[in-house]
Amino acid sequence: MSSFDLSGRVAVVTGGNGGIGLGMARGLAEAGAAIVVAARNREKSEGAVAALAESGAQSAFVELDVADEESCRDMVRQTVERFGRLDILVNNAGMSIRKPPETYAAAEWRQVLDTNLTGAFLCAQAAHPVMKRGGRGKIINIGSMMSIFGAGYAAPYSASKGAIVQMTKSLAISWAPDNIQVNAVLPGWIDTELTINARRQVEGLHERVLRRTPAGRWGDPRDLAGIAVFLAAPASDFVTGAAIPVDGGFSVEI
Ligand code: NDP
Repeated sequence: MSSFDLSGRVAVVTGGNGGIGLGMARGLAEAGAAIVVAARNREKSEGAVAALAESGAQSAFVELDVADEESCRDMVRQTVERFGRLDILVNNAGMSIRKPPETYAAAEWRQVLDTNLTGAFLCAQAAHPVMKRGGRGKIINIGSMMSIFGAGYAAPYSASKGAIVQMTKSLAISWAPDNIQVNAVLPGWIDTELTINARRQVEGLHERVLRRTPAGRWGDPRDLAGIAVFLAAPASDFVTGAAIPVDGGFSVEI
C-alpha cells in the first residue's frame, strides 16, 4: 500500500462545501477517502457531495454548526453511524468580521472565536474517542497567515488563528500516545468566498497580495489538496504538532 493511499479511511471536512475545505476534500477523495461534508448550508453542501460523488468518491452531508457543542458531538455520532469509523478530521470551518478593534461588540468577538477556535477544539474533542478506539487518527487544523502576522481589521480572527497553532501543539502532545497526529496548515491568500468579501472590504488588498506573494498569484483551493493528503496519510505518521505554511512564499519574505 502506498504511504499516500487513503482507501478505506473516513474523513470529515468541516466547512467542506466550498473554498479551501472543498479543495482539501477533493484531494482526500482522490486519494481514496470517503468524505463527510459537515457544514450549515444544506444546498451548498449537497452540491459539494454531488461533485465529490461524480469523481467517484463516497460522500455524505452531515449538518454541523461548529459554534454549537452538541452539534459537534452529533456530527461525529452521525459520521460513525453512517461510515462506521472516523480517521481524519479537517477543522476548516471559519469566518471573519472585519472592523477596527475598538468597534467590536463582545458578541462579535465571541462569534469569531467560537467558530474558528472553540469549534475546532470541540470537533477534535468529539473525534478523539473514536480515533483512539480505531487505533489511529489525523487532525488537520486550518490556521492562516494571521497565525503569524496581525491585521488592524481582524483582531478576533488573528487571535483565533494564532491560538489554533498553540492548541495544535498541545493536542499533538496529549494524543501522540493514541497514535493521533495533530497538525496545522497555514494557507496564504487563497481565492474563495471569504477573500472575495475581504477584497470588497479592505481597499487595495488584491494588489497588496499580488505584490507581497513571491509566487505572484493568489492561491487556488486546489493548492491545499496535496498538504491535506500528506497530513491525512501514513506518510506523515512522524509529523505532529507542526504548522505548515502553504502560501506561495508569503511568510518567508520580510
Ligand atoms: P469560505 O467562506 O469559502 O468557507 C468557509 C466555510 O466554513 C464554509 O464552508 C462555511 O459553510 C463553513 N462555516 C462557517 N461557519 C460555520 C459554522 N458555524 N459551522 C460549520 N461550518 C461553518 O472560506 P475559505 O475556504 O477561505 O476558508 C476556509 C478556512 O480557511 C477558514 O478557516 C479560513 O479562516 C481559512 N483561511 C482562508 C484563507 C483564504 O485566503 N481564503 C487564508 C487562511 C486561512 P456554511 O456556511 O455552510 O456553514
